[in-house]
Amino acid sequence: MRFVIYPCGDPRVIQSVAMLTPYPTYLIFLIYWSLPNQILHFPPDLALQQALYVLASIISLYPILRLHLNQGREPRQPARTSWFKSLVTLLTLAFLTEANNVEAWTTGLGEGRADEYAEDICNDLNKLYLMLGLDRTTNSTFPFEFRRPKPILTTSRLNCVFCPPGDSNLIPSLRRRRWDKIQNVQLLDSTFHWCSADYYPDRITYQSSGIVGRLERLEYDAEVLRVSKQGVWVSRKIAVAQEKALHRFNSGWSNWADWVNDCTGDPKNKVTYRQSQRLFLEHFSRRLLVAHGKSDDFCCEAHPSSQLLAETVRKTIGINGGVVPTSMTHGCMNCTHVKRYRSDLVREGAVLGGNTAVANTTEPEAEPDPSLPENVPDILPQLEAPAAGSPRGYVRMAVMDLKTIRHRKCALDDCQNPLYNYKNGRFCETHLDLKDVCGIVPCGRPVRQPGALTCDTEAHMAWQKMYENRFSHLSFPGVQRVIRRQQAAVEEGSGVSEQQARGPSLRVQLQALGNTPGDQVVHTFKAKKTYGLQTVQWACGVPIGWGKCYRSESEPQTGFAYDSTCDLLRHIVTQNAGSIWLATTKFIVDAWHYIGHRASDVLCRTRCNPAPMDGSQPDLILTAEDENGEVHQARALNTETAEQLNSWLGGFEAALQQMSDVNYDFFVHVLMMIYGETMEKRIHAKGMELSDEFWAAVNGEDVEA
Ligand SMILES: [Zn+2]
Ligand SMILES: [Zn+2]
Ligand SMILES: [Zn+2]
Ligand SMILES: [Zn+2]
Ligand SMILES: [Zn+2]
Repeated sequence: MRFVIYPCGDPRVIQSVAMLTPYPTYLIFLIYWSLPNQILHFPPDLALQQALYVLASIISLYPILRLHLNQGREPRQPARTSWFKSLVTLLTLAFLTEANNVEAWTTGLGEGRADEYAEDICNDLNKLYLMLGLDRTTNSTFPFEFRRPKPILTTSRLNCVFCPPGDSNLIPSLRRRRWDKIQNVQLLDSTFHWCSADYYPDRITYQSSGIVGRLERLEYDAEVLRVSKQGVWVSRKIAVAQEKALHRFNSGWSNWADWVNDCTGDPKNKVTYRQSQRLFLEHFSRRLLVAHGKSDDFCCEAHPSSQLLAETVRKTIGINGGVVPTSMTHGCMNCTHVKRYRSDLVREGAVLGGNTAVANTTEPEAEPDPSLPENVPDILPQLEAPAAGSPRGYVRMAVMDLKTIRHRKCALDDCQNPLYNYKNGRFCETHLDLKDVCGIVPCGRPVRQPGALTCDTEAHMAWQKMYENRFSHLSFPGVQRVIRRQQAAVEEGSGVSEQQARGPSLRVQLQALGNTPGDQVVHTFKAKKTYGLQTVQWACGVPIGWGKCYRSESEPQTGFAYDSTCDLLRHIVTQNAGSIWLATTKFIVDAWHYIGHRASDVLCRTRCNPAPMDGSQPDLILTAEDENGEVHQARALNTETAEQLNSWLGGFEAALQQMSDVNYDFFVHVLMMIYGETMEKRIHAKGMELSDEFWAAVNGEDVEA
């Protein structure tokens, strides 16, 4: 199929042809159409496929033309900027790609002719774009699928973000540093310094006075992300797909890379695990910094390693814990309700019972015990219901929970520092030298040879050997027996440690070392773990924040073995007796824990009841009438939503346990952000936001005074 030139300069003809013919003809017609200056843009002997390829290339060059035109707006600019020269080079390449294809180039369009046509097209490029209606908004939906033009990676910016306005009050435009090779930009700006900022599609690197080396800022709306310094770029949409896979399938980086490679089926180009992880890091660094409102201030060393980028982001948004950015302004019908008063319960006909009876349970009430700590009042002051028409206030409930999701840390029990080497290390940087000291504390003698775990004391060597093999003698039925025994202990209510309450864990008997019982021997044979991950959520499930606990494993379990609420309350009572928390905040625990714990802990008994039946906590009690007309008290707060977060997080536990402290924190920040966004979306979809009627009730405007 050959095309003839259609020698016409009248747009009206084009329009009428367009209406008469299907649009591929329309496009080809336009290509061959010459602009009013009568220069032909395509040689008549150019094959159709080649012409279409060149056309597609023209379309893809738009971002560079934009930069060229922008620079031209400043005074004293050359007509041929370096951007322009790049346009000609790229377009010449488009004409030449198939220069050795005799079919396509029957008359042998030589290199000179390609240059000539490229130059002509570039000179008219602006007009061509205008005429074709091609700009950034239309080219994304442009229906060219026959042969993809090369995508052009450029910054989306036109002007320098560092330079002050120059001539004519214009902010200096971006220039190509060199035009014969695709690379970065540099600018001698009007203040007579070389602005050395480099603009990449996903970042800007720059020099800052007083700092050795270069810094970098991130482009938060980047459409492509660099995942390898060897020039591997990935579309942001792929990063979003990775995010969704993480969210829905708990997919890890390696799994995900394998899946992508399965899909592309390209045996030569593969996404590596490292690149997959880098994509995650680049994408979520931007997401987290924006969500935490830190995007404007953030900078780090230019072209950082993955480790350094994660570390810098973590330093910016929270080390060892964090607050979910939007949680503090959150409120919905599931976590927030209009304040209730004792008189409401009475009006509803509730039969009031004792302080330690729990609504919805059939357990007998606990015996009263008067010995409360001095600064804790026996009974919390009861608020009188305000007069009708005056503000009633509102209550928002939060749920706190400790999960056994951990990461490794220094082998010394009292040290909270991260491992120096997360591959196979045991110590933090400070305690690295301890690898040469006997692993049994407090022996202190040197190890018997480099790499050994103990000194040459016979007993120490033997104990270490026994420790190493502690699991080997256990058969599968043996393991089952241990677990059964632990479960029985939990059911009897004897020795309910938190760990057991959350599922069985295997504890084996260790031989004594001298006079020290086996389980009390302190050693540094392996890296220890953090104690757990503490989360706080609103009662509706929207996460508020998280933090890591660093309790040592050797600490006896009795003091804190119950749950974190009692623990927190006890901490506040003893450490900070005047705390406003004691007066304004109600700490409660789940009903199951409460029934078990109230017998032994007076603070828990009087203050942690999740649904006291004496009318002292009307916010925690709802009333319901049964078929006999009897009014029953029911618990208002259920902690099921907290369980949903637990089970979702549980899917990441195995991955998190392998991570360094920095990656662990980064990952938890990511998980909490994703979960919060999901919950907010769900609440919005269900229309559970706080309504005008709600606020009217809070302010007492819903009833006549
Ligand atoms: Zn600049
Ligand atoms: Zn809520
Ligand atoms: Zn240490
Ligand atoms: Zn020793
Ligand atoms: Zn308790």
